[in-house]
Amino acid sequence: MHADTKYAGEDQQMTDRDKAEIFIDEPRRRTPVAGRYDVIVCGGGPAGTAAAVRAAENGASVLLLERQGSLGGTWTGSLMTWLMDVENKSGLLDRLTDGICSLGSLYCRQHGDYSFCPEDMKCVMEQMAVEAGVSLLYHTMLAGVITEVPQGGGVPAVKGVITESKSRRQAFLAPVIVDATGDGDAAAMAGCSFFMGEEGTGRMQPMSMIALVCGLSVRDVRPFCLNYESCPGEAQRHFQELFASCGIRLSYSMPVLTHLKGDLFSVSLNHEYQVPCDDARQITDAVIRARAEVLGALHKLAAADKRWESAIIAHTADAIGVREGRRIRGNYTVTREDLISGRTFEDGICDVTFNVDIHVSGKTGSGSWDDGGVCVKPYQIPLRALIAADVRGLVLAGRLISGDFYAHASYRTGGNILKIGEAAGVLAAAAARTGVAPDEVPFDVVREVLGSGIGT
Ligand SMILES: Cc1cc2nc3c(=O)[nH]c(=O)nc-3n(C[C@H](O)[C@H](O)[C@H](O)COP(=O)(O)OP(=O)(O)OC[C@H]3O[C@@H](n4cnc5c(N)ncnc54)[C@H](O)[C@@H]3O)c2cc1C
Repeated sequence: MHADTKYAGEDQQMTDRDKAEIFIDEPRRRTPVAGRYDVIVCGGGPAGTAAAVRAAENGASVLLLERQGSLGGTWTGSLMTWLMDVENKSGLLDRLTDGICSLGSLYCRQHGDYSFCPEDMKCVMEQMAVEAGVSLLYHTMLAGVITEVPQGGGVPAVKGVITESKSRRQAFLAPVIVDATGDGDAAAMAGCSFFMGEEGTGRMQPMSMIALVCGLSVRDVRPFCLNYESCPGEAQRHFQELFASCGIRLSYSMPVLTHLKGDLFSVSLNHEYQVPCDDARQITDAVIRARAEVLGALHKLAAADKRWESAIIAHTADAIGVREGRRIRGNYTVTREDLISGRTFEDGICDVTFNVDIHVSGKTGSGSWDDGGVCVKPYQIPLRALIAADVRGLVLAGRLISGDFYAHASYRTGGNILKIGEAAGVLAAAAARTGVAPDEVPFDVVREVLGSGIGT
């Protein structure tokens, strides 16, 4: 390894670290290299899973590391069970749809959106990754990114990652890394510049704790269900009025009830404001507050309304849902203006039709969402927004790609995230296979592999 090899994770600025008055010097250590791959995907959410599957199907040896014990990220671990902006998408989405329907997920199609059972999604994603030949590593935390500055200087290049798990500290090497951690952990560790929150104001989208509830009668709760009302806003309004009529005040004033399967439902009624994705202390406090609110509200509802008295809170999410983390600077940054003008690109990889969806804090503390005054015309995400600007060999996938606050609030939805992941995987495999940096891969190569699925 080159003398300038840098374990960038060691340099990461952290809030607790900033606050610390005392530091200790850790002893130097020798870390075993546990594997070599063409592509390492960090984070097994929808974007990471799509990237890993697509990279493996395109001939790359792929390691997919995930801190939780399943794939799906926000869609499974955070119980987010409603996919939006899927109407004009094909590719992996079709395979996921077939898989979860065969397991009995309701997958109710309403207003062009879909619901699903997170357990079914977990199984289908895992099976898909295994069948594609992806090497999965669960309960494994990304702890650092190994970068190397070329002889004579220049942009550092990725060489591999450092992980922490039950196997202790290990290194895995690859010429191409895909950051699909949602929060941009890998990119930040590698020294990439990034944005968090709204430019100027610093406001961030809130986190939310979602719960699974069973024991309800579909007939009784139908008017509150997103799946069954012809206008989703109406179902949310009915649900909010139900809580209000029982004297229950919520931090999210547009609560969501979604029917998933049998008598299983998901409930989203909580907002946790201004919690940064890189502060474990603040996230923990938010989780404790959120869980107390969710359980408290549902218990009160069960006591006050006959239709809810047999409700059983089956599960609160293993991970609080993070709408917004770091947005990593790429070779192109998608902007609010692109959304307004409906901009398309020569290297467009995903057609986005979804509006801007900013969950805001109201004056009363009870928040809803708004479109930030942006009227979205269908627009595209260019492949360049998936290529990190500051570090060679780093591909971006999912909600962390290069975009401003408003653009992120639109393309962060399910169908787009999957499509972005697919493109990231194809690009990563092509770069690794041909031994070039991702920005040197001709776009035609990516277009050819994604075929007619590209942009749609
Ligand atoms: C509360 C909430 C409600 C939403 N509602 C909707 C909706 O109704 N419809 C819709 O379409 N979209 C919705 N979204 C948006 C959508 O779900 C997300 O944008 C999407 O899941 C992002 O996917 P991702 O793969 O980029 O990130 P994530 O789903 O966050 O996945 C990231 C993965 O990386 C892993 N990871 C993170 N850090 C590390 C690390 N250091 N080491 C190892 N692994 C790591 C995580 O465990 C996770 O599995 C919602 C999101 C939230 C949070």
